[in-house]
Order: sequence, then C-alpha cells, then structure tokens
Amino acid sequence: MCGIIGYVGPRVARDVVVAGLRRMEYRGYDSAGVAVIVDGQLDVRKKAGKIANLDAIIAESPLADTEIGIGHTRWATHGGPTDFNAHPHVSAGGRVALIHNGIIENFAPLRAELQAQGVRFDSETDTEVAAQLLGREVEAGADLADAMRTVCRALQGAFTLVAIDRAEPARLVAARRNSPLVLGLGEGENFVASDVSAFIEFTRHAVELGQDR
Ligand code: GLU
Repeated sequence: MCGIIGYVGPRVARDVVVAGLRRMEYRGYDSAGVAVIVDGQLDVRKKAGKIANLDAIIAESPLADTEIGIGHTRWATHGGPTDFNAHPHVSAGGRVALIHNGIIENFAPLRAELQAQGVRFDSETDTEVAAQLLGREVEAGADLADAMRTVCRALQGAFTLVAIDRAEPARLVAARRNSPLVLGLGEGENFVASDVSAFIEFTRHAVELGQDR
C-alpha cells in the first residue's frame, strides 16, 4: 500500500508533505496529491503518474506556504489512475479534503445513498464516499473528530484516513482500521504518516496508532 502524510506546524507544510511522499515512493504508487488550507479555502493539486508530475503542476500553479497540509500517493484499486481519481478528495461543498489508503468495501451502497440525496461525485473511487460523508457531518455542525468517528462507523474494510477542514486551519484528523498510521510528535509540530520514514528527518518520536483509533 502506498503513502499518506499529514503535517501541522511552523514549517512550510507543502514542502514537508512532498518530501514525505518522496520518501515513501518505494511503497509504489500511480498518482500523487497535496491539499493545504489558504485563507479559509482548500487548495488541492493532484496528478496521475510520478511525484515529478505533481511537482510540475505545483511549479506552474504554486501552493501557498501554510502550516497545515496533507499528501497522498495512490495505488488505484477503485477507478483508474487518473487526475480526477487521485487524492485528496474534496467534499461537494468544498469543506473537507480527505486522503485514504486501503479499500472501503461498502462504498457502493453508501455512494448510491448519497447520490440519491443529490450529492455529486467527481471520481470513481471508493474513497470519495468518505470525503462526502465527512463533509456532510461537519456541515451539519459536528466537530471534525466526532464527524470522523461517525464516518468510520459507517465504513467497512481497511483504511487509513486523514482529513482537513477549511474552517479549522490548524487541525487535522486521522483514523485507521486494518491499515497503518504512525504519529510523529515534534516540538510545536506533529506529523501523521503511513510510515515513519516519511517524517524521520524531523522527529524520531513516533507513536503507532492503535486499531480503530
Ligand atoms: N481505494 C482507494 C483508491 O482506489 C485508495 C487506494 C490506495 O490505498 O492508495 O483510490
């Protein structure tokens, strides 16, 4: 399985995240993407192919220096390796961005239910149901962490999920079930990643997150 990284702290999140993705390249992937929060809005760059392709679109259309960012390398399981299917996925109202490693086994009925309620999907991934469900929860007023718990209860399968909410630019939430997630605790900064190699140059204080956390 491929790579997830999230960062909150004083460094330039975009650079920490892209460097972390590069250190997880050995895990294999077919697309890569990054999301940050700028002036209360999500800003996402994602691209099929190598991280060099992501670098190129960031060079063309720069991402601001921010203190929060999430990044993903995808190994497609549901939907081909296209730009649209690359992560992060953003909920229909533009409220949350979410990345996912693993498989959401019950995505089809969840997707059908959301579509019946008028939610428009931008990708063919299983992941996007989690983004849409999370967006719906926070838009209804749920706290971001509570919303993530609610979403995880609705999901079956194996997943590591990391999400940010444009309304909370200093907070990210993460959850895992049957898929790895490690926290990196720094001084005034924190990391989450699939693998300690993603943040080892910044902190050696790593905590493995327990199952269903
Ligand atoms: N199942 C998800 C997808 O196809 C995530 C795959 C992964 O672990 O990167 O987009």
